[in-house]
Amino acid sequence: MTDADTRTLEFDLAALRERYRHERDRRIRPDGLRQYLGSRHNFGYWAEDPYTPRQERAAKSDRVEVLIVGGGFGGLLTGARLREAGFDSIRMTEEGGDFGGTWYWNRYPGIHCDIESSVYMPLLEEVGTVPSRRYAPGEEIRRHAVAIAERFRLYDDVLFHTRVTALRWDEDDAEWQVCTDRGDRIRARYVVVSSGTLSQPKLPAIPGVESFRGHTFHTSRWDYGYTGGDQAGGLTGLADKRVAVVGTGATGIQVIPHVGRDAEHLYVFQRTPSTVDVRDNRDLPRNWTSNLPQGWQRERMENFLAVIAGEDTETDLVADGWTSTARLQRKMLSGRTDDTLDPGEREMLDEIADARKMNEIRARVDATLDDPATAELLKPWYRYMCKRPTFSDHYLQTFNRPNVTLVDTADTGGITAMTETAVVVGDSEYEVDCVIFATGFETGVSGVVSGTLPVHGRGGVQLLEAWSAGPRTLHGFMSHGFPNLFHLGSLQNANSVNFVHILQEQATHIAAILERAGSEQARYVEPTAEAEADWLATIRRVQIDNGDFLVECTPGYYNGEGTRRRGGGGFSPGPVRFHEILREWRATSMDDVIVPAPVLVNE
Ligand code: NDP
Repeated sequence: MTDADTRTLEFDLAALRERYRHERDRRIRPDGLRQYLGSRHNFGYWAEDPYTPRQERAAKSDRVEVLIVGGGFGGLLTGARLREAGFDSIRMTEEGGDFGGTWYWNRYPGIHCDIESSVYMPLLEEVGTVPSRRYAPGEEIRRHAVAIAERFRLYDDVLFHTRVTALRWDEDDAEWQVCTDRGDRIRARYVVVSSGTLSQPKLPAIPGVESFRGHTFHTSRWDYGYTGGDQAGGLTGLADKRVAVVGTGATGIQVIPHVGRDAEHLYVFQRTPSTVDVRDNRDLPRNWTSNLPQGWQRERMENFLAVIAGEDTETDLVADGWTSTARLQRKMLSGRTDDTLDPGEREMLDEIADARKMNEIRARVDATLDDPATAELLKPWYRYMCKRPTFSDHYLQTFNRPNVTLVDTADTGGITAMTETAVVVGDSEYEVDCVIFATGFETGVSGVVSGTLPVHGRGGVQLLEAWSAGPRTLHGFMSHGFPNLFHLGSLQNANSVNFVHILQEQATHIAAILERAGSEQARYVEPTAEAEADWLATIRRVQIDNGDFLVECTPGYYNGEGTRRRGGGGFSPGPVRFHEILREWRATSMDDVIVPAPVLVNE
């Protein structure tokens, strides 16, 4: 299809492109990423744990076989796979007061997983958990994380409320020295870092924010003592309160219907509207998994991953808002493989499918809202994957309530100021009792990449110095000069909206390597510099050029607030192909990273 052919479309593609450009330019801020405060700023108390009291304990000074940093799904899955592989000496460290990671911290009213439970909640068959709803409530997912820890004995030697502060390689003993903020000095043969990608609350640097005298908190530290109720709602403490919610991303969309229902008055401060598609959540029969054949979850997870990644699949087992959109784009490509399409033609077909989806989403806003002016403000004007898509059957309806006001802040780049009693946007002041920040998380701050966890490898070399010209890894997991150290995450690895599936593959991979290292009685595990260079070259060679997609998007964390042209430097042909590469590597090349122990000769 050419530009000329687009005149036959049922909408004006040129006008749409112009509108998207205009809305993006209206939203872009010169201060980019500097517009936010980290939670370590004066508002550090917002990052404290409201759920579990911190216990005093004696510092540890001992040795373990494997130390896993992070008790979210990545750490739990690695622990589970290592237990299955026969590892006994496993210690986990976690900054929260229990397992669960994001599901430990995020307990706001309305919290649900926005990916179907059957493919999102890992190890359902192994643990015997049966999700109660198609999209499970957050508390159920948190309890499942706890159940995984119990099933695989990961509570045995865990250190909660503990942050690893440094890792230093000891070449003589071939092990890591691990320091923590609780004074621990632990020696570990292997270290696995799974400290998450979206974990530190992020706050807008609004002038005057510190002068506000009312109540404030971030959604990932919900204050039920103030609001009353629980994750199912019933926020009776807000009945006589004027409440502001700042932010309308995936979290805001879930929180706002509850606050709107229970607050005396709710002001929603929106900067960029989200795409809000149909949710269609429902209860599941009590024992819905009992007649499914063994291995059903793996089959369903693989199918979801493939459909979302745009692979050519005959069936769509999950068949929901995520997969139908991916299939819409696939259909536009008429089943033709990447090679048979001219890249320009492929991009045009993608763009048309995208525009049709977004037209549908905007039409839903018109069909739901009573007030046409509010409907206009709630319509998103950007391409579908510019921001995390959201799903709700209650969010848009909330704006039909008489006690709910939508305050659009796009023209001022967000809230302009706060006073002792009010939120200010331009010339208007909104007097409120409470401000709830649904403003998201810092990206990439956790772990070794940001330098918050300094790592000194062989010869005392710092990891970030070794990576000064860019990260160098084998498949994203290991680095030359840093033996026995493994990373989970999307760096030079795969990515997907169902990130738990990615973590599960990573855990399987790491456990397989450690199992082999054990059986070979390795001195340590380390890739060669050549293997790293080959992987970097592979990533660059297969990089799919998305042109200016990201840079033309409305600002958000996907494109570094409009500053980034490319994604996270992962394997761009997608997770299905990447997992094939890992399987092949395990079958043929795993021994390449095993450095054998020296043979002792009796004199
Ligand atoms: P986001 O970063 O997606 O959203 C932050 C919101 O705050 C945006 O609406 C942003 O506006 C707004 N904002 C920031 N600064 C200001 C300001 N100065 N004035 C007004 N508004 C402002 O965070 P979320 O917590 O919503 O989501 C983060 C991620 O967490 C998701 O993308 C998803 O990956 C995950 N998540 C997953 C869920 C699941 O069910 N699996 C549920 C919830 C979250 P703007 O868009 O203009 O920047």
